[in-house]
Amino acid sequence: EALSTLSITVVGASGDLAKKKIFPALFALYYEDCLPKNFIVFGYARTKLTDEELRNIISTTLTCRIDKRENCKDKMEQFLKRCFYHSGEYNSEENFAELDSKLKKKEAGKLSNRLFYLSIPPNIFVDVVRCASMMASSANGWTRVIVEKPFGRDSESSAELTRCLKKYLTEDQIFRIDHYLGKELVENLSVLRFSNLIFEPLWSRNYIRNVQFIFSEDFGTEGRGGYFDNYGIIRDIMQNHLLQILALFAMETPVSLDAEDIRNEKVKVLRSMKPLELEDVIIGQYKGHNKGGRAYPGYTNDSTVPKNSITPTFAAAALFINNARWDGVPFLMKAGKALHRKRAEIRVQFRHVPGNLYKRNFGTDLDKATNELVLRVQPDEAIYLKINNKVPGLGMRLDRSDLNLLYRARYPTEIPDAYERLLLDAIAGERRLFIRSDELDAAWSLFTPLLKELEAKKISPELYPYGSRGPVGAHYLAAKYNVRWGDLGGEDD
Ligand code: NAP
Repeated sequence: EALSTLSITVVGASGDLAKKKIFPALFALYYEDCLPKNFIVFGYARTKLTDEELRNIISTTLTCRIDKRENCKDKMEQFLKRCFYHSGEYNSEENFAELDSKLKKKEAGKLSNRLFYLSIPPNIFVDVVRCASMMASSANGWTRVIVEKPFGRDSESSAELTRCLKKYLTEDQIFRIDHYLGKELVENLSVLRFSNLIFEPLWSRNYIRNVQFIFSEDFGTEGRGGYFDNYGIIRDIMQNHLLQILALFAMETPVSLDAEDIRNEKVKVLRSMKPLELEDVIIGQYKGHNKGGRAYPGYTNDSTVPKNSITPTFAAAALFINNARWDGVPFLMKAGKALHRKRAEIRVQFRHVPGNLYKRNFGTDLDKATNELVLRVQPDEAIYLKINNKVPGLGMRLDRSDLNLLYRARYPTEIPDAYERLLLDAIAGERRLFIRSDELDAAWSLFTPLLKELEAKKISPELYPYGSRGPVGAHYLAAKYNVRWGDLGGEDD
């Protein structure tokens, strides 16, 4: 290790993602001693900054774990000393050659591994990859590139992007990030299922009635709608984050935990699904709303959004996997902005107990008696299982209780940000949590016909008030498959 260096170049270092997520994640890895001994970080963007100015910007967002505050300031200073900046154009081979000489100087003849993090808008991905791979690749170590979504906006543009990237990079140099895969509870999904006897035997159509993947945000685009308006919630959340979680949830047992074994199983799930149909999808858009004396703006009130935009900020969909394990089981997805709360979760609703002896204790609504397993991905990570339980006492009254694993109660340490895990894996060359190009193709195949139809027919979204539970159409869609959304129940939901 003493003879090698790792350089991490954050392209688009002047941007929001770099400041909010990437630099803090790199610092957290440094703080936890997870980075190699010789590492340097370079910021690259057009904005003119000195090394010192970059350090000042970064220093405002670095934090230490709540439970490990000792040496925090020292560690930050040591980290910042290893951060440098180079200003350049994204399509300039010359500017990347200058970066290369700066990198070489710092590498001082050691074996060099180079990681480029593309934190830039998609229209310049290919320029950067061309210039970086031609002018600033490592001469003697590995060169890897992390790419952020969006990976195209339909099958064709995604395939075109992959084709262009592959002119300059091999598949194993490309790390397509889906930061949901780096989230603690999503990683734990396989642990829960494959290392406990009690879940895997139930993991099929025999016992599971439906599975729900729910994402909600309690804020709108808030003046940053320019990017979003071109994509919409289906591309922004469903086609990638929720579908990735679905594939992990539904896959067969992989041969091993190796990246290729897991990704092979995920692709099989995606390829066993039928493309979404318009009749199994509802879309919505939030409208302005006054609540508690405050006015909340509608989506089209955002000055960065066209006044007549019909881009969905909410969508719900029913998907099906045509294989032996999941035949006929609805997999429901729901994603939306400007809803009543912020939440990402997976809900598994089990079937009724056949010949339930306690049937009469539940009245007419047997749905209320079904078991439900919930994995709350964020915020306040938790896994809980809804069970029926006897209320203590002489009578025979049942109620619904939770077997509850609340992370903050069980594990008092801070949970690392998803970007930390993913950066660490990219440095280690571990591809398990990154999207392979055939996975990406399969994911787009499921959504592209629907997206085209929505756009060709100019289908108007159902309006819902900012801060509400979303359009009522989502209930009808679920009801069509005899499903109730688990997150709209009551109590803790
Ligand atoms: P950003 O702030 O808009 O852009 C990052 C940097 O790229 C800017 O500082 C700017 O640097 C350069 N840039 C911006 N617009 C450009 C343009 N039209 N042409 C050329 N360069 C331009 O974006 P971000 O929020 O940091 O996100 C980075 C990437 O990650 C985006 O592609 C986004 O889609 C994706 N992403 C973001 C998030 C998030 O939470 N923000 C989440 C997931 C994915 P200079 O002007 O200094 O060159």
